[in-house]
Amino acid sequence: MKVIVLGCGSAYGSPMIFNNWRNLSPNQPKNIRNRASIYMEIEGKKIIVDTGPEFRLQVNQNGITDLDAVFITHGHYDHIASLPELSRACTLLNHPIEIWSSQETQTELKQVFGFLFKPETENSPSLLWRTLPDCGNFESCGITFETFQVKHHHLHCSAFRYKDFAYVTDWEQMPEKGINKLQGISTLLIECNNGLYPEKNGHSDIENVKAVAAKIKPQRVILTHLSARVDYDELTQALPQGYEVAYDGMEIK
Ligand SMILES: [Zn+2]
Ligand SMILES: [Zn+2]
Repeated sequence: MKVIVLGCGSAYGSPMIFNNWRNLSPNQPKNIRNRASIYMEIEGKKIIVDTGPEFRLQVNQNGITDLDAVFITHGHYDHIASLPELSRACTLLNHPIEIWSSQETQTELKQVFGFLFKPETENSPSLLWRTLPDCGNFESCGITFETFQVKHHHLHCSAFRYKDFAYVTDWEQMPEKGINKLQGISTLLIECNNGLYPEKNGHSDIENVKAVAAKIKPQRVILTHLSARVDYDELTQALPQGYEVAYDGMEIK
């Protein structure tokens, strides 16, 4: 299994619009962050989690030339903005792409991108809409994954596990079910939006992550979905052993 962090930025990316770096040092290239997304290659199948506004650039910059499935974590703009690009992607690839999302997320997607659900888009190879369970196993591309939901703002965000790797983005509360699902993993790629600066904004900070990691004890904890307050070097220096700060293009094996 290979994972590439296509983006480890928060909703606004960094630098933010108008070249605003907020707390970030412009001298650290790892502070340049696209919106949160990962690429997973498993048994030859190519899967992307979330399609934010930089999706096309992230795919091109990372040399990705095929795509079998997309998992959507939740309906916020920074995770879904490029979803309409997938229709074109199916035509270019000449095969359909499975799009997995929870019932709750699919309801939001239908409101925002209703045209993607119309029957005429099902003509040529197109999007195959699939519904994620709120908690449990699902099979995509012949591969079994586990999913569960975390609480984020007013909604739920789907998290994913494959064997000993898990990806948890956009969360402020980890339910007991999630802790159980994460037992036995070795690598946890997890949102730490607020870094060293706690804030009640539907996201987590380093103390929230540590509390969860203490119950799971993975070998590696990699922090992602980082806001423009979270400087790469400042956070790295404050982390205990076993913790890392993600950066765009980071490869996890
Ligand atoms: Zn987000
Ligand atoms: Zn969100």
